[in-house]
Amino acid sequence: MTRPDPPTTPPAPPEPAGSTAAQSFSEAFGSEPSGVWSAPGRVNLIGEHTDYNAGLCLPIALPHRTYAAVRLREDRRLRLRSLQSPKQYELDLDDVRAGNPPGWGGYAGGVLWALEEAGHQVRGLDLMLDGQVPLGAGLSSSAALECSVAVAVSDLLDLGLTGNDDARATLAAICVNAENTIAQAPTGGMDQAAALRCQVGHALLLDCRDGSIAQVPFDLSAHGLSLLIMDTRVEHALDDGQYAQRRASCEEAAQQLGLSSLREVAFDDLDKTLDRLPDITIRARTRHVVTEIERVRQTVALLRAGRLSEVGPLFNASHASMRDDFQISCPELDVAVQVARAHGALGARMTGGGFGGSAIALVPAERAAEVTSAVARAFTDNEFSAPHCFAITAGGPARREF
Ligand code: ADP
Ligand code: MG
Repeated sequence: MTRPDPPTTPPAPPEPAGSTAAQSFSEAFGSEPSGVWSAPGRVNLIGEHTDYNAGLCLPIALPHRTYAAVRLREDRRLRLRSLQSPKQYELDLDDVRAGNPPGWGGYAGGVLWALEEAGHQVRGLDLMLDGQVPLGAGLSSSAALECSVAVAVSDLLDLGLTGNDDARATLAAICVNAENTIAQAPTGGMDQAAALRCQVGHALLLDCRDGSIAQVPFDLSAHGLSLLIMDTRVEHALDDGQYAQRRASCEEAAQQLGLSSLREVAFDDLDKTLDRLPDITIRARTRHVVTEIERVRQTVALLRAGRLSEVGPLFNASHASMRDDFQISCPELDVAVQVARAHGALGARMTGGGFGGSAIALVPAERAAEVTSAVARAFTDNEFSAPHCFAITAGGPARREF
């Protein structure tokens, strides 16, 4: 399945950022919003399918953000609109439950539900979204949506869930609960942590065992590098059972090993550990998770040492591991990665849940245009839909715009 062409690449936000959401809010609801809040999409540099294994991952926030124009109501009605969807919602907060409302309203309503579930007093709201994170591209438009709404509600009701990183970690967990329980998408915690806790010019080292983070320098331009996102436009579908299967295999492996999670496998003991797993598929899944966590550690060490240009081979090894051991790649991702490398990328890998979505390539800045056109040509030659390639830098976390 492919998605329709996005309007432009990437859309330059009007000034001030979020003003389109505000204006559309006024048109839809007849008066101005209380403000506009935003949250970024994310791309994971390395550390894939490690979050639910209590492992490590390393996302950056995208410059692409979802803007939420919000006004609280005195009652418990939710009126939800999005410039990216014709579907409009009007329902009572008390009707939000697992699977209801279906579609994107579940992400927004779910945030209110999860805040209430966590003991906060909330009210209904009117919402207009303007999302600039490509939808379903593995760049976490869903968490951007949730987190933009969550920071708005926290600010407007003075819930104190945005002021410091601990509070933001709490808010991230609330958004995860919204996505898991109401939208019924079984995601780990990386996306919401990235949207709420990333800092400009840094990657976020997230330890999913305890939720602790560290900011790791990721200044591309200082190293003369570009990070290209290559959105294959192949719809990734986490809900077709593949994600759940991978997750189940990892849990099975941990259980057979008598461990609480695969995080507990020491990299140095990997071969010995794999010998204890009789099933060849479960062994391969385990090898991916354990080697991937180690690759995150090595990437972080290089970034901290100011050796950003040397992480390419780790990206390449990560891609091979996901393609061969975790088996979550697809022809479009493999072609994007191979062609990017052949045209000067220092390293490239698929990113996100898999089976479509996006790949990333670390490229000397002067070769970014060449890689972009080579990937586009290769997609034409292979009769794939045109990819959507764009360079990004590490953006900032969810915040109030005005
Ligand atoms: P990803 O998070 O990688 O983009 P998901 O499948 O997790 O992919 O989330 C995509 C879904 O999130 C969309 O199908 C839609 O339901 C919802 N969504 C995200 N952003 C918006 C938006 N701006 N307007 C309406 N729905 C949105
Ligand atoms: Mg998502």
